Amino acid sequence: MKEEKLMVDGKRIDGRLPEQLRDIKMKLNVVTRANGSAEVKFGKTTAIASVHGPRALFPRYLQESGTGILRIRYNMAPFSVNDRKSPGPDRRSTEISKVIRLALGPTIFLEDFPKITIDGFAEIIEADGSTRVTAINALSLALAAAGIPMEDLVASCSVGKIDGTLVVDLNGKEDNNSEADMAFAMLPNKGVISLLQMDGALTKKEVLKLLQSAKESCMKIYEMQIKVLKDFYKGE
Ligand code: ADP
Repeated sequence: MKEEKLMVDGKRIDGRLPEQLRDIKMKLNVVTRANGSAEVKFGKTTAIASVHGPRALFPRYLQESGTGILRIRYNMAPFSVNDRKSPGPDRRSTEISKVIRLALGPTIFLEDFPKITIDGFAEIIEADGSTRVTAINALSLALAAAGIPMEDLVASCSVGKIDGTLVVDLNGKEDNNSEADMAFAMLPNKGVISLLQMDGALTKKEVLKLLQSAKESCMKIYEMQIKVLKDFYKGE
């Protein structure tokens, strides 16, 4: 099969420069039944996050840990990709749910909520690459909108290498044909990295360069998250 070129004259297939994020949209409280919710779009990738709780933790034996728990379910809708995805959980969604929980956990004071659960759902309505990081950004906003005490927001993005070029925010085609890709999340104020996953091969120099790009992109995303929260509470 002939490989499609992902970089032409310094630009990507969607016309972006290597360090350019896609058009990002964020909206709060899109699910009326949730305690907090958010929709985040990175280009054509759309995640809707819904947070329920804090609420009593059942079954009761789970309450013995003396700390609250965060439960996360990441799900890709069957219609979110071109070839229909079979519905229901699979190994990929189980793993992604877990890494999202670990990415968000450090920001929540779970020890202050014994016998309590906070449930977060991330539904991918349309998938065009970088769905786990889009879900993390949406869940972080949804947790804040639910009034969950948090140490910081969590901002997340992907970075990678395509056709020998280091880029940020991979779309679906780039992700599927990349030489390497990394999913990254951080708590910007605390300076903590809470997600770092990498596929493919990179030199040490490339990893360091990508980590710097990821941090810079997350700071941009963080500013958008702060703005959407402030605008919402100002009633704009
Ligand atoms: P992420 O979406 O977090 O980057 P992956 O690297 O596993 O996670 O997936 C990359 C992209 O591949 C997704 O964003 C989506 O566009 C596509 N993809 C993932 N799973 C499927 C699937 N079952 N069917 C079709 N496309 C998929």
